[in-house]
Amino acid sequence: MSSVDRNAMLTIAVIFPDLLGTYGDGGNGLVLARRASWRGMDTELIQADSGRPLPTADLYCIGGGEDGPQVRAAEALRADRSFGRAMEQGSVVLGVCAGYQLLGHSFPDRDGRPHDGLGVLDVTTAKGGGPRAVGELLASVTADAPRLPSGRLLPLLTGFENHSARTTLGQDAKAVARVVRGVGNGAGDRTEGAWSDRVLGTYLHGPVLARNPALADLLLGWALATPGSAPVALEPLDDRDQEELRGERLASVGRTRPALLIRRRGGRR
Ligand code: GLN
Repeated sequence: MSSVDRNAMLTIAVIFPDLLGTYGDGGNGLVLARRASWRGMDTELIQADSGRPLPTADLYCIGGGEDGPQVRAAEALRADRSFGRAMEQGSVVLGVCAGYQLLGHSFPDRDGRPHDGLGVLDVTTAKGGGPRAVGELLASVTADAPRLPSGRLLPLLTGFENHSARTTLGQDAKAVARVVRGVGNGAGDRTEGAWSDRVLGTYLHGPVLARNPALADLLLGWALATPGSAPVALEPLDDRDQEELRGERLASVGRTRPALLIRRRGGRR
């Protein structure tokens, strides 16, 4: 889809849920499909298992997973030219953890040996020296982050992380956020996630789009916009349930009561 056409079908594909479905990240596809259909758009949500040709989609979600399936997923995606073609046509991609790492140039297997990624995001992932990064991850978006259609920044990002590898950003990738709590990219610069053009990677599980509906709407806005242009603004939804979930999770991080976090978020806008 290259321009706003509310009558056209918006196709969302979860890539290889049979390989990269360990952390509930398949929920990201569901959140995207629901938020689009709540706004009256026709949506199709495809669970694109491995071993079959990848379907064409406006928006792809790749989730986290174990080291072995991550290698198999990257090999299968590199062998299937449809993913590269979809990228050329401006499909939007969200990669989470293993899915984020395999969008980059290379990532390690369980023995630390580098494997080729898809190279659609200028990041490189290597085995980390320290302990595995496990726990709540809270990150505050920076001026480098993708802008909402309003020009504002995304609110605080909340999720949890579980990874051992560490990701370094190259010049063509921008950080999504700065870590407030947790490890994130873990390469020493306190950054979390990376993005360029219409591809965004993050270490946030949750699923990240359930915990951060503004990010879901940004991805939908990209998918509905002509490649290279600003994301389409979507009408607001009643997000009271989602805000309650966010409040709970932000409170679980412990530093600040939800009300204060909400005020701080409001202040930064
Ligand atoms: N295997 C990768 C790592 O540990 C990704 C883990 C994940 O997807 N949660 O770094």
